[in-house]
Amino acid sequence: MPFSPVFLDVEDRDRASVLERYPDARIFDSVRGDALIDACKDAEVVSTTVDTKFPASVIAELPALKLLCTRSAGYDHLDLAACADRGIVATHVPDYGSHIIAEFAFALLLGVLRRVEEGRARIRSGSSDHRGLRGMALRGKTMGVLGTGRIGRHTARIAHGFGMTVLAYDPYPFPTFGQECGGSYASLEDVLAASDVISLHLPSTAQTRHIINADAFSQMKDGVVLVNTARGALVDGKALLAALTTGKVSHALLDVLEHEDDLSKEKALIDHPNVAVTPHIAFYADESMRVMFTDCFDSIDQWRKGETPAHAVPLPTAA
Ligand code: NAD
Repeated sequence: MPFSPVFLDVEDRDRASVLERYPDARIFDSVRGDALIDACKDAEVVSTTVDTKFPASVIAELPALKLLCTRSAGYDHLDLAACADRGIVATHVPDYGSHIIAEFAFALLLGVLRRVEEGRARIRSGSSDHRGLRGMALRGKTMGVLGTGRIGRHTARIAHGFGMTVLAYDPYPFPTFGQECGGSYASLEDVLAASDVISLHLPSTAQTRHIINADAFSQMKDGVVLVNTARGALVDGKALLAALTTGKVSHALLDVLEHEDDLSKEKALIDHPNVAVTPHIAFYADESMRVMFTDCFDSIDQWRKGETPAHAVPLPTAA
């Protein structure tokens, strides 16, 4: 019997790596609604991403499904209770390279603070005049890192490499942070007050929602640079706009927004001259995409051998 897993959300450039591993794989890019059900109807194994959700209503239409692999770290787009009810194993990719996101935080920082886009526009307009494009250097500045999990620690390491002073806040400090990342911990208040650049690397939870609010901005240095590659809900957008207006925040560099699914709600931030917004692309690079596939292949192969995949998602147990 040929093994024919279904791979969803596969771009053309990634097809070959799937077919090399599973020559009979059925590969789709975006399929939605009835087309999604048709694509997966008789599949035992489906590989997806956050772009294609598997609520209980979809899982109910897929009687053959036994293994559901998301090639993402997060898995809240899979109905795990429905998987548990049906004995479907779900897997994810817990770490596809946290340096990828940390590097992007610096891509934003260096690109904006050294006026790269404006410089390109200037030269394209036929002028090689440097005046008006003075940048801000990083060495000697203080980088505040909020959240020292996988991504925050990489960010701290890079900042240390740039010769920045690294101050971090995390309610659960990482034991070897000082030795590994060259920074030191301080209270949230002290990090906010001392930092020239503040980079957010916290999860989005009820406790962290709008952790960067008017009160937090009031504690920051004038002209602080805010970088958010974590989750949009960490920042109170209205308070950020107010802080940009007063100059408290000189630049906001945002890969994530609170309302990514309705950008009309974010227009004021997106259009602000001192705000650089990118469309949630910090994760999206050659290395991370490669690991998302190879880790998923490993889960599939472990499952086919009758093993519990190392990256199986813990399923809820019946109450
Ligand atoms: P992680 O779980 O490894 O680390 C999160 C850290 O935040 C932990 O050390 C935790 O103790 C700390 N924390 C929790 N509450 C806190 C608080 N109130 N104040 C300070 N620290 C707190 O997570 P990670 O993998 O490093 O991811 C960090 C963020 O990056 C998450 O929000 C994640 O969703 C986001 N992310 C974004 C992208 C992207 O493409 N933009 C990609 C991957 C992850």
